[in-house]
Amino acid sequence: MKPLVELTRPNIWNLKPYSSARDEFKEGNAHVFLDANENPYNIPYNRYPDPNQTTLKTRISQIKGIGVDNIFLGNGSDEAIDLAYRCFTRPGIDNVVAIEPTYGMYKVCADINDVEYRPVLLDDKFQISADALLNACDDKTKLIWICSPNNPTGNNIRRDEIVRTIRSFEGLVVVDEAYSDFSAEKPLRPEINEYPNLIVLNTFSKAWGCAAIRLGMAFADKAIIDIFNKVKYPYNVNSQTQSIALNALKDPYVVDRWVKTILLERVRMVDAFNMLPCCKRVYPSDANFLLVKFDNAQAVYEYLKDTGIIVRNRTHVMLCGDCLRITIGSKGENNALLSALRQY
Ligand SMILES: *Cc1c(COP(=O)(O)O)cnc(C)c1O
Repeated sequence: MKPLVELTRPNIWNLKPYSSARDEFKEGNAHVFLDANENPYNIPYNRYPDPNQTTLKTRISQIKGIGVDNIFLGNGSDEAIDLAYRCFTRPGIDNVVAIEPTYGMYKVCADINDVEYRPVLLDDKFQISADALLNACDDKTKLIWICSPNNPTGNNIRRDEIVRTIRSFEGLVVVDEAYSDFSAEKPLRPEINEYPNLIVLNTFSKAWGCAAIRLGMAFADKAIIDIFNKVKYPYNVNSQTQSIALNALKDPYVVDRWVKTILLERVRMVDAFNMLPCCKRVYPSDANFLLVKFDNAQAVYEYLKDTGIIVRNRTHVMLCGDCLRITIGSKGENNALLSALRQY
């Protein structure tokens, strides 16, 4: 890995961050707060949230087995994705490499930041070699994006190829593990201490069932997390989000039960799709959705929409011609989908 100073945008490396009122004191016996121009009324909404999210990070640290200093929390994973560009790529100069097809936000954030985006096509098994990714890189490549399990293909990218990419690449590798709770493969998250150039993304939006509160996580070496923290909005995670997340983390076994149920439903749905005449193929999934190939995906999509069932049309995505991406829902939702498709 290159020294971090060479990978960071020079203005960001030199940035002196905004110091918020609530940054400057540390707990103690403070009980009168006249430092932030808040309104004393309308408790508890009158107070600014903890800019460092200390309580929440401490709890996440226990559950994920990651040091508090190795955790960044943001307004969804989207914030961490955008920050990776804003911290480590120079607009109009640097580039990033990513697997293709994958989650759309990596490219949108590249375009917003005026950074060249270099997609590298997966093979017909939706896999990629480290060599293929590294061959697309040059000395201006700062980030490689890998999503595993991948969206929309649903499969894990081979772990040994991801590890080879991390070991060989001079820049930073972002591995988005948004769906790892649904996968039997062991995640890379516990190994951030072994790879100083690895950033792992997790989210509260999928297995944790909290898409509404907008809370995403990045795990990485402290040096990287420190840069994210100095660039983020001071109060990027609001108080309601912090308290709802803390509440959700009180009983992580609830999440385990949800995941188990969803995995059982996934098995049932694979079998059911395979029996449908309009369905040509169900791709193997390590996530909470299935990529399904139909004879005419556009027509199936329109038909389902007319019956009030919305799935994701991926037919114009590379390698996903005539495919719909279908989330595993509740038993009732899944039955509604199957019954509509049987009448198609
Ligand atoms: C759903 C999803 C996320 C979650 O994004 P949030 O902003 O945290 O809701 C992240 N990465 C991938 C690949 C996803 O599919």
